[in-house]
Amino acid sequence: MTNKNLKDITDDIIIKDLDDICDECKKKEDSVTHNLILTGFKICQSCRLSKTIFPI
Ligand SMILES: [Zn+2]
Repeated sequence: MTNKNLKDITDDIIIKDLDDICDECKKKEDSVTHNLILTGFKICQSCRLSKTIFPI
């Protein structure tokens, strides 16, 4: 029970950061969690566009 699979690790990250608060503008946006999963950056859609961060 010591090895964590990727899904467990991903779930930990999502649960920990699932407050929808953008790291850049500190506003609460539904898109923050969506972008966190897609890009690994905890930012809202408008900040994502302004920083031109795209998923690889
Ligand atoms: Zn933002």
